[in-house]
Amino acid sequence: MEKHVDATRTLIRGARIVTAAGDEGVTDLAFANGVIEGPEPRGPVDVDVDASGLVLTPAFLDPHVHLREPGFEVKEDLASGLAAAAAGGFGTVVSMANTDPAIDEPSLVRWLIEKAAVLPGARLRPAAALTMGLKGTQLTDAVALKEAGAVMLTDDGIPVSDGEVMRRACEWAADLGLVVQTHSEDPALRRDGVMNEGEVSERLGLPGNPRIAEASMVYRDCAIAAFTGARVHIAHVTCREALDVVAHFKERGAPVTCEVTPQHLSLTDAAFDTFDPVYKVAPPLRTSDDVDALREGVKRGLVDCIGTDHAPHTRDEKHGDLLSAPFGIANVEVAFAVLCEALVTTGDLDLPALLRLLQDGPARVMGWDAPTLAAGAPADVVLLDLDTARVVDPATFKSKAKFGPWDGQTLRGWPVKTWVAGHLAFDRAT
Ligand SMILES: [Zn+2]
Repeated sequence: MEKHVDATRTLIRGARIVTAAGDEGVTDLAFANGVIEGPEPRGPVDVDVDASGLVLTPAFLDPHVHLREPGFEVKEDLASGLAAAAAGGFGTVVSMANTDPAIDEPSLVRWLIEKAAVLPGARLRPAAALTMGLKGTQLTDAVALKEAGAVMLTDDGIPVSDGEVMRRACEWAADLGLVVQTHSEDPALRRDGVMNEGEVSERLGLPGNPRIAEASMVYRDCAIAAFTGARVHIAHVTCREALDVVAHFKERGAPVTCEVTPQHLSLTDAAFDTFDPVYKVAPPLRTSDDVDALREGVKRGLVDCIGTDHAPHTRDEKHGDLLSAPFGIANVEVAFAVLCEALVTTGDLDLPALLRLLQDGPARVMGWDAPTLAAGAPADVVLLDLDTARVVDPATFKSKAKFGPWDGQTLRGWPVKTWVAGHLAFDRAT
């Protein structure tokens, strides 16, 4: 079931068009019936938008969000999560399967797609679980899940500790052409670590989660990708060693891709000096050396895309005891501004290169057409204000998780309007 289309004819006037291909200059763009028409509207215009001083680009793709429905609607639901994604400039998101029940049956995939299709906000492309109930033992029916509309297999949130299970899943996925996304952390090594194992965890006396937990399982998952031919996508790479492993396998032609998150590109384990569970995420925030390695990997093109890993929880859960607080950072609404500050302001990337990580990169990971503003393409577009500094005010978040690591910070690089299938899915002015 496709996203419902808005028949309105919208004309966006005077925006500077920037895409992954570069700066394409100032022009107009019209769309109607959910489809881009081009610089000239092909009929009477219903909505006229003056976009002078703003940048227009295809809406972003996020291969990694947690929308929590079904089962955890107290944290987020499809309506709030998809609205939050649109507010972040995302036109399409891939939802993870670690809900309750887990998305391990075709009927659940169909239910999600049908429910999301009539909601405003971003498009939903659901991932399905790799194992039944995310228990890591019995494989799901990948054929039926794909037929129902699942675009990825993953137990994300929970590492698949049994290598044989991962191998069999990848053999199936290779035949089906489905992407397998892995949460690569060896549970035996990570144990009850709440933050990166290192100088800071030792000083604070907090249980650490070592880099080797991640790097060793990234190695296993890349090796299985190379062996089976499955397209394996390594979620949230956080440390130098894990990135080195990905580079090693990519150099040898393994069908491996990887993502990094805005938080791992911008924050370090030094944040735990506050003992604030808002920074608790798995894999954990690492050191400034790891942040340097990730930024270098992004610059070199070793990192394929950004995944936000938007992982909302309730305020009570995230403001309790550090040891028992759940892992995850809700970020989809601030992701672009955080990335602009971490990568563009620092001079690591220019804007087209950042857009590549949010448009062409995730599309290639998923095996989809790259988003474009060409005539006939879906009218999924976002207007960006790169100049206005705004204070992060979580009270304005569409997400149910109205708090995060960047609250109160002044950032530049904000989506101001997002259209999905021609429908105005987000407007910062209202
Ligand atoms: Zn995740």
